[in-house]
Amino acid sequence: MRGKPVIDTERCKGCMLCNAVCPENIMGVGESFNKQGLAYAICVNEEACTTCRSCAIICPEAAIKIIKYV
Ligand code: SF4
Ligand code: SF4
Repeated sequence: MRGKPVIDTERCKGCMLCNAVCPENIMGVGESFNKQGLAYAICVNEEACTTCRSCAIICPEAAIKIIKYV
């Protein structure tokens, strides 16, 4: 476990571009909705995250930060 993506749920639009570029395919849509009424992204398998940052770079809403464990 190297780290994980942290999603700002209020910025997320649920477009799933993050999963499209994730080499591990570990981003998914949750069952909860943000204040805009949009289902937002969640990481479905944090253990598999390599902290490559692809999801954070592609996100058009800048809604993802990657935290790394030391
Ligand atoms: S790319 Fe960004 S806005 Fe789109 S679903 Fe992922 S976190 Fe949300
Ligand atoms: S940092 Fe890389 S491996 Fe982790 S969720 Fe984002 S795209 Fe996937």
